[in-house]
Amino acid sequence: MKTIIRKIRRDTGAYTEQEKEALRLAGNIIREGGLVAFPTETVYGLGGDALNPASSRKIYAAKGRPSDNPLIVHIADREALGRIVRDIPESAVKLADAFWPGPLTMILEKSDPVPRETTGGLDTVAVRMPSDPVARELIRLSGGYIAAPSANLSGKPSPTVAKYVVQDMDGRIDMILDGGDVEIGLESTIVDLTSPVPTVLRPGYVTVQMLRETVGEVQEDCTMMRDDSGQAPKAPGMKYRHYAPRGELTVVDGAREDVVNYINTQIGLLRAQNKKSGVIGTDADIERYRADVCRSVGDRGSEDTVARRLYRVLREFDDEDVEVIYAEAFDTDGIGQAVMNRLLKAAGYRVVRV
Ligand code: AMP
Ligand code: MG
Repeated sequence: MKTIIRKIRRDTGAYTEQEKEALRLAGNIIREGGLVAFPTETVYGLGGDALNPASSRKIYAAKGRPSDNPLIVHIADREALGRIVRDIPESAVKLADAFWPGPLTMILEKSDPVPRETTGGLDTVAVRMPSDPVARELIRLSGGYIAAPSANLSGKPSPTVAKYVVQDMDGRIDMILDGGDVEIGLESTIVDLTSPVPTVLRPGYVTVQMLRETVGEVQEDCTMMRDDSGQAPKAPGMKYRHYAPRGELTVVDGAREDVVNYINTQIGLLRAQNKKSGVIGTDADIERYRADVCRSVGDRGSEDTVARRLYRVLREFDDEDVEVIYAEAFDTDGIGQAVMNRLLKAAGYRVVRV
Protein backbone atom coordinates (compact mmCIF):
# COMPACT_ATOMS: atom_id res chain seq x y z
CA MET A 1 0.00 0.00 0.00
CA LYS A 2 1.26 3.47 -0.88
CA THR A 3 0.91 5.79 2.10
CA ILE A 4 0.06 9.44 1.36
CA ILE A 5 2.05 11.77 3.65
CA ARG A 6 0.94 15.42 4.01
CA LYS A 7 2.21 18.19 6.28
CA ILE A 8 -0.21 20.25 8.32
CA ARG A 9 0.28 23.00 10.90
CA ARG A 10 -1.40 22.38 14.23
CA ASP A 11 -1.20 25.85 15.72
CA THR A 12 -3.75 27.60 13.53
CA GLY A 13 -7.35 27.30 12.43
CA ALA A 14 -6.52 29.15 9.20
CA TYR A 15 -5.43 26.28 6.99
CA THR A 16 -3.98 26.76 3.52
CA GLU A 17 -5.86 25.31 0.54
CA GLN A 18 -3.43 22.36 0.49
CA GLU A 19 -4.01 21.72 4.18
CA LYS A 20 -7.78 21.87 3.75
CA GLU A 21 -7.53 19.48 0.85
CA ALA A 22 -5.36 17.10 2.91
CA LEU A 23 -7.89 17.17 5.76
CA ARG A 24 -10.81 16.49 3.42
CA LEU A 25 -8.94 13.62 1.83
CA ALA A 26 -8.11 12.18 5.26
CA GLY A 27 -11.75 12.49 6.34
CA ASN A 28 -12.94 10.70 3.21
CA ILE A 29 -10.42 7.90 3.68
CA ILE A 30 -11.73 7.25 7.20
CA ARG A 31 -15.39 7.44 6.08
CA GLU A 32 -14.63 4.84 3.43
CA GLY A 33 -13.08 2.46 5.94
CA GLY A 34 -9.39 3.40 5.55
CA LEU A 35 -6.79 4.39 8.14
CA VAL A 36 -5.12 7.78 8.74
CA ALA A 37 -2.45 8.63 11.32
CA PHE A 38 -2.91 12.11 12.77
CA PRO A 39 -1.49 14.33 15.52
CA THR A 40 -3.27 14.83 18.84
CA GLU A 41 -2.05 16.81 21.85
CA THR A 42 -0.96 13.57 23.61
CA VAL A 43 0.71 11.38 20.95
CA TYR A 44 0.05 10.53 17.27
CA GLY A 45 -3.07 8.44 16.75
CA LEU A 46 -3.84 5.76 14.16
CA GLY A 47 -7.43 6.51 13.21
CA GLY A 48 -10.27 4.57 11.65
CA ASP A 49 -14.07 4.82 11.77
CA ALA A 50 -14.95 3.71 15.32
CA LEU A 51 -18.43 2.54 14.30
CA ASN A 52 -17.14 0.35 11.45
CA PRO A 53 -15.95 -3.07 12.65
CA ALA A 54 -13.82 -3.56 9.53
CA SER A 55 -11.90 -0.34 10.30
CA SER A 56 -11.11 -1.51 13.81
CA ARG A 57 -9.89 -4.85 12.49
CA LYS A 58 -7.59 -2.97 10.12
CA ILE A 59 -6.20 -0.93 13.00
CA TYR A 60 -5.26 -4.07 14.91
CA ALA A 61 -3.64 -5.52 11.81
CA ALA A 62 -1.64 -2.37 11.00
CA LYS A 63 -0.28 -2.14 14.55
CA GLY A 64 0.20 -5.86 15.09
CA ARG A 65 -1.91 -5.30 18.20
CA PRO A 66 -3.74 -8.12 20.01
CA SER A 67 -7.45 -7.73 19.30
CA ASP A 68 -8.47 -7.96 22.99
CA ASN A 69 -6.76 -4.61 23.58
CA PRO A 70 -9.58 -2.05 23.17
CA LEU A 71 -9.33 1.22 21.25
CA ILE A 72 -10.16 4.72 22.45
CA VAL A 73 -13.01 6.45 20.58
CA HIS A 74 -12.27 10.12 19.83
CA ILE A 75 -15.11 12.64 19.50
CA ALA A 76 -15.14 16.35 18.68
CA ASP A 77 -18.20 17.56 20.61
CA ARG A 78 -20.22 16.65 23.68
CA GLU A 79 -23.37 15.77 21.71
CA ALA A 80 -21.47 12.89 20.10
CA LEU A 81 -21.10 11.16 23.46
CA GLY A 82 -24.81 10.38 23.85
CA ARG A 83 -24.88 8.13 20.79
CA ILE A 84 -22.11 5.76 21.91
CA VAL A 85 -22.73 5.32 25.66
CA ARG A 86 -25.72 3.89 27.51
CA ASP A 87 -25.73 6.47 30.24
CA ILE A 88 -23.77 9.62 31.15
CA PRO A 89 -23.22 9.62 34.92
CA GLU A 90 -22.86 12.86 36.90
CA SER A 91 -19.13 12.18 37.34
CA ALA A 92 -18.67 12.08 33.55
CA VAL A 93 -20.41 15.44 33.17
CA LYS A 94 -18.17 17.00 35.80
CA LEU A 95 -15.00 15.52 34.32
CA ALA A 96 -15.96 16.56 30.79
CA ASP A 97 -16.68 20.10 32.02
CA ALA A 98 -13.27 20.23 33.68
CA PHE A 99 -10.99 18.41 31.24
CA TRP A 100 -12.56 18.16 27.78
CA PRO A 101 -11.34 18.89 25.26
CA GLY A 102 -8.08 17.48 26.61
CA PRO A 103 -5.99 14.48 27.65
CA LEU A 104 -8.61 12.56 29.66
CA THR A 105 -10.24 9.28 28.56
CA MET A 106 -13.37 8.03 30.32
CA ILE A 107 -14.60 4.43 30.35
CA LEU A 108 -18.42 4.18 30.15
CA GLU A 109 -21.03 1.50 29.29
CA LYS A 110 -21.15 1.27 25.51
CA SER A 111 -24.34 1.48 23.47
CA ASP A 112 -25.25 -0.60 20.40
CA PRO A 113 -23.68 1.49 17.59
CA VAL A 114 -20.20 0.75 19.00
CA PRO A 115 -19.02 -2.60 17.61
CA ARG A 116 -17.24 -5.10 19.86
CA GLU A 117 -14.31 -4.99 17.43
CA THR A 118 -13.64 -1.47 18.66
CA THR A 119 -13.92 -2.30 22.37
CA GLY A 120 -11.87 -5.49 22.29
CA GLY A 121 -15.00 -7.49 23.05
CA LEU A 122 -15.97 -5.43 26.13
CA ASP A 123 -19.37 -3.89 26.98
CA THR A 124 -17.63 -0.67 27.91
CA VAL A 125 -16.09 1.97 25.67
CA ALA A 126 -13.20 4.39 26.21
CA VAL A 127 -14.00 7.94 25.01
CA ARG A 128 -11.88 11.06 24.71
CA MET A 129 -12.36 14.52 23.23
CA PRO A 130 -8.94 15.77 22.10
CA SER A 131 -8.07 19.48 22.09
CA ASP A 132 -5.74 19.38 19.11
CA PRO A 133 -7.29 21.42 16.26
CA VAL A 134 -6.18 19.02 13.50
CA ALA A 135 -7.57 16.03 15.40
CA ARG A 136 -10.89 17.80 15.99
CA GLU A 137 -11.28 18.86 12.37
CA LEU A 138 -10.45 15.37 11.17
CA ILE A 139 -13.00 13.82 13.55
CA ARG A 140 -15.71 16.16 12.20
CA LEU A 141 -14.78 15.47 8.57
CA SER A 142 -14.78 11.72 9.06
CA GLY A 143 -18.21 11.31 10.60
CA GLY A 144 -17.68 12.09 14.27
CA TYR A 145 -16.15 8.93 15.78
CA ILE A 146 -12.51 7.98 15.29
CA ALA A 147 -11.10 4.89 16.99
CA ALA A 148 -7.43 5.61 17.51
CA PRO A 149 -4.69 3.88 19.44
CA SER A 150 -1.20 5.34 19.34
CA ALA A 151 0.29 5.22 15.82
CA ASN A 152 3.17 2.86 16.63
CA LEU A 153 3.74 -0.81 16.02
CA SER A 154 2.49 -2.70 19.06
CA GLY A 155 4.99 -2.69 21.92
CA LYS A 156 7.04 0.27 20.71
CA PRO A 157 7.06 3.73 22.31
CA SER A 158 4.20 5.92 21.09
CA PRO A 159 5.23 8.40 18.39
CA THR A 160 5.45 12.03 19.47
CA VAL A 161 6.91 13.20 16.14
CA ALA A 162 5.77 12.24 12.62
CA LYS A 163 9.14 10.70 11.75
CA TYR A 164 8.40 7.72 13.98
CA VAL A 165 4.87 7.33 12.60
CA VAL A 166 6.42 7.06 9.14
CA GLN A 167 9.02 4.59 10.43
CA ASP A 168 6.33 2.27 11.82
CA MET A 169 3.35 2.84 9.49
CA ASP A 170 4.64 3.69 6.00
CA GLY A 171 3.12 1.16 3.61
CA ARG A 172 0.68 -0.17 6.23
CA ILE A 173 -1.96 2.60 6.26
CA ASP A 174 -3.57 4.97 3.74
CA MET A 175 -2.36 8.35 4.98
CA ILE A 176 -0.23 10.17 7.54
CA LEU A 177 -0.89 13.79 8.56
CA ASP A 178 2.46 15.20 9.66
CA GLY A 179 1.70 17.91 12.22
CA GLY A 180 5.19 18.21 13.71
CA ASP A 181 5.87 17.65 17.41
CA VAL A 182 3.00 16.97 19.83
CA GLU A 183 2.53 19.00 23.02
CA ILE A 184 2.17 16.55 25.88
CA GLY A 185 4.06 13.49 24.71
CA LEU A 186 2.37 10.83 26.89
CA GLU A 187 -0.95 9.09 26.33
CA SER A 188 -4.14 10.32 28.01
CA THR A 189 -5.14 9.62 31.59
CA ILE A 190 -7.73 6.80 31.62
CA VAL A 191 -10.45 6.83 34.29
CA ASP A 192 -13.03 4.05 34.60
CA LEU A 193 -16.46 5.42 35.53
CA THR A 194 -18.21 2.05 35.44
CA SER A 195 -16.78 1.00 38.82
CA PRO A 196 -18.51 2.18 42.04
CA VAL A 197 -15.65 4.62 42.68
CA PRO A 198 -13.96 6.24 39.66
CA THR A 199 -10.70 4.34 39.09
CA VAL A 200 -7.61 5.56 37.28
CA LEU A 201 -6.35 2.80 34.99
CA ARG A 202 -3.52 4.76 33.39
CA PRO A 203 -1.92 7.95 34.75
CA GLY A 204 -1.38 10.91 32.44
CA TYR A 205 -1.24 14.67 32.21
CA VAL A 206 -4.52 14.96 34.13
CA THR A 207 -3.33 13.78 37.55
CA VAL A 208 -5.19 11.75 40.19
CA GLN A 209 -5.15 14.84 42.38
CA MET A 210 -6.84 16.90 39.66
CA LEU A 211 -9.53 14.22 39.27
CA ARG A 212 -10.15 14.15 43.03
CA GLU A 213 -10.59 17.90 43.09
CA THR A 214 -13.32 17.50 40.47
CA VAL A 215 -15.27 14.38 41.53
CA GLY A 216 -14.16 13.58 45.08
CA GLU A 217 -13.10 10.02 45.80
CA VAL A 218 -10.93 8.44 43.07
CA GLN A 219 -9.02 5.14 43.27
CA GLU A 220 -5.87 4.06 41.49
CA ASP A 221 -5.85 0.64 39.83
CA CYS A 222 -3.42 -1.54 41.77
CA THR A 223 -1.50 -2.51 38.63
CA MET A 224 -0.69 1.09 37.77
CA MET A 225 2.77 1.54 39.26
CA ARG A 226 4.03 -1.97 39.79
CA ASP A 227 4.62 -5.22 38.03
CA ASP A 228 1.25 -6.38 36.78
CA SER A 229 2.29 -9.70 35.30
CA GLY A 230 0.42 -11.67 37.98
CA GLN A 231 -2.67 -9.43 37.94
CA ALA A 232 -5.38 -8.79 35.41
CA PRO A 233 -5.29 -5.03 34.84
CA LYS A 234 -8.64 -3.41 34.11
CA ALA A 235 -7.22 -1.65 31.06
CA PRO A 236 -6.41 -4.76 29.02
CA GLY A 237 -3.72 -2.92 27.09
CA MET A 238 -1.65 -2.38 30.18
CA LYS A 239 -0.77 -6.07 30.43
CA TYR A 240 1.25 -6.06 27.24
CA ARG A 241 4.92 -5.14 27.05
CA HIS A 242 4.68 -1.52 26.21
CA TYR A 243 6.57 1.61 25.32
CA ALA A 244 9.76 -0.39 25.13
CA PRO A 245 12.97 0.35 23.23
CA ARG A 246 14.85 -2.65 21.80
CA GLY A 247 17.73 -2.21 24.24
CA GLU A 248 17.48 -3.62 27.76
CA LEU A 249 16.38 -0.76 30.00
CA THR A 250 16.98 -0.44 33.76
CA VAL A 251 15.74 2.40 36.00
CA VAL A 252 18.21 3.48 38.69
CA ASP A 253 16.76 5.11 41.79
CA GLY A 254 18.71 6.78 44.59
CA ALA A 255 20.66 9.87 45.62
CA ARG A 256 22.09 11.84 42.68
CA GLU A 257 25.76 11.02 43.25
CA ASP A 258 25.05 7.35 43.84
CA VAL A 259 22.99 7.09 40.65
CA VAL A 260 25.73 8.67 38.50
CA ASN A 261 28.42 6.49 40.06
CA TYR A 262 26.43 3.28 39.74
CA ILE A 263 25.53 3.92 36.10
CA ASN A 264 29.11 4.85 35.15
CA THR A 265 30.41 1.67 36.79
CA GLN A 266 27.91 -0.42 34.80
CA ILE A 267 28.90 1.38 31.61
CA GLY A 268 32.53 0.49 32.26
CA LEU A 269 31.55 -3.18 32.49
CA LEU A 270 29.50 -2.95 29.29
CA ARG A 271 32.40 -1.37 27.45
CA ALA A 272 34.62 -4.28 28.42
CA GLN A 273 32.00 -6.55 26.78
CA ASN A 274 31.84 -4.35 23.68
CA LYS A 275 28.18 -3.55 24.31
CA LYS A 276 26.72 -0.25 23.18
CA SER A 277 25.35 1.67 26.18
CA GLY A 278 22.90 4.51 26.66
CA VAL A 279 21.74 6.78 29.47
CA ILE A 280 18.48 8.67 29.95
CA GLY A 281 19.33 11.52 32.29
CA THR A 282 18.41 15.08 33.07
CA ASP A 283 20.18 18.37 32.33
CA ALA A 284 21.95 18.60 35.71
CA ASP A 285 23.98 15.38 35.33
CA ILE A 286 23.85 14.29 31.70
CA GLU A 287 27.40 15.53 30.97
CA ARG A 288 28.78 13.25 33.67
CA TYR A 289 27.75 9.95 32.11
CA ARG A 290 30.27 7.96 30.06
CA ALA A 291 27.81 6.00 27.91
CA ASP A 292 28.01 5.79 24.10
CA VAL A 293 24.67 7.60 23.76
CA CYS A 294 23.58 10.04 26.50
CA ARG A 295 20.23 11.81 26.20
CA SER A 296 18.72 14.37 28.53
CA VAL A 297 14.95 14.53 28.84
CA GLY A 298 15.31 18.08 30.17
CA ASP A 299 15.33 19.82 33.50
CA ARG A 300 14.11 17.58 36.34
CA GLY A 301 12.04 20.51 37.69
CA SER A 302 10.15 20.85 34.40
CA GLU A 303 8.05 17.69 34.38
CA ASP A 304 6.14 18.75 31.28
CA THR A 305 9.38 18.81 29.29
CA VAL A 306 10.40 15.41 30.63
CA ALA A 307 7.02 13.97 29.60
CA ARG A 308 7.28 15.51 26.13
CA ARG A 309 10.77 14.15 25.47
CA LEU A 310 10.66 10.69 26.99
CA TYR A 311 9.28 8.68 24.06
CA ARG A 312 11.41 10.47 21.50
CA VAL A 313 14.52 9.64 23.51
CA LEU A 314 13.48 5.98 23.82
CA ARG A 315 13.10 5.87 20.05
CA GLU A 316 16.49 7.51 19.50
CA PHE A 317 18.17 4.64 21.33
CA ASP A 318 16.63 2.27 18.78
CA ASP A 319 17.89 4.49 15.95
CA GLU A 320 21.41 4.17 17.40
CA ASP A 321 21.15 0.43 18.11
CA VAL A 322 21.90 0.88 21.80
CA GLU A 323 21.95 -2.50 23.55
CA VAL A 324 21.74 -1.59 27.24
CA ILE A 325 20.14 1.57 28.66
CA TYR A 326 20.11 3.06 32.17
CA ALA A 327 17.59 5.72 33.17
CA GLU A 328 17.47 8.05 36.14
CA ALA A 329 14.25 7.68 38.18
CA PHE A 330 11.70 10.49 38.60
CA ASP A 331 9.51 11.73 41.44
CA THR A 332 5.99 10.39 41.18
CA ASP A 333 3.96 13.44 42.03
CA GLY A 334 2.05 15.40 39.40
CA ILE A 335 2.71 14.25 35.86
CA GLY A 336 5.84 12.53 37.23
CA GLN A 337 3.55 9.60 38.05
CA ALA A 338 2.73 9.19 34.36
CA VAL A 339 6.40 9.51 33.40
CA MET A 340 7.44 6.80 35.90
CA ASN A 341 4.51 4.55 34.89
CA ARG A 342 5.73 4.56 31.26
CA LEU A 343 9.40 4.27 32.20
CA LEU A 344 8.75 1.32 34.53
CA LYS A 345 6.73 -0.48 31.87
CA ALA A 346 9.38 0.24 29.25
CA ALA A 347 11.91 -1.28 31.67
CA GLY A 348 9.74 -4.32 32.39
CA TYR A 349 9.95 -3.15 36.05
CA ARG A 350 13.71 -3.62 36.20
CA VAL A 351 14.65 -1.13 38.93
CA VAL A 352 17.94 -0.90 40.83
CA ARG A 353 17.96 1.04 44.13
CA VAL A 354 21.40 2.40 45.00
P1 AMP B 1 -3.71 3.24 23.33
O1 AMP B 1 -4.79 3.23 22.34
O2 AMP B 1 -2.44 2.65 22.83
O3 AMP B 1 -3.55 4.56 24.02
O4 AMP B 1 -4.24 2.25 24.45
C1 AMP B 1 -5.57 2.41 24.91
C2 AMP B 1 -5.65 1.94 26.31
O5 AMP B 1 -6.98 2.13 26.77
C3 AMP B 1 -5.32 0.48 26.48
O6 AMP B 1 -4.46 0.30 27.60
C4 AMP B 1 -6.67 -0.13 26.71
O7 AMP B 1 -6.59 -1.29 27.46
C5 AMP B 1 -7.44 0.98 27.41
N1 AMP B 1 -8.88 0.85 27.20
C6 AMP B 1 -9.56 1.14 26.07
N2 AMP B 1 -10.86 0.83 26.20
C7 AMP B 1 -11.02 0.31 27.43
C8 AMP B 1 -12.14 -0.21 28.14
N3 AMP B 1 -13.34 -0.27 27.60
N4 AMP B 1 -11.92 -0.66 29.39
C9 AMP B 1 -10.70 -0.60 29.93
N5 AMP B 1 -9.59 -0.12 29.31
C10 AMP B 1 -9.76 0.32 28.07
MG1 MG C 1 -0.34 2.69 22.61
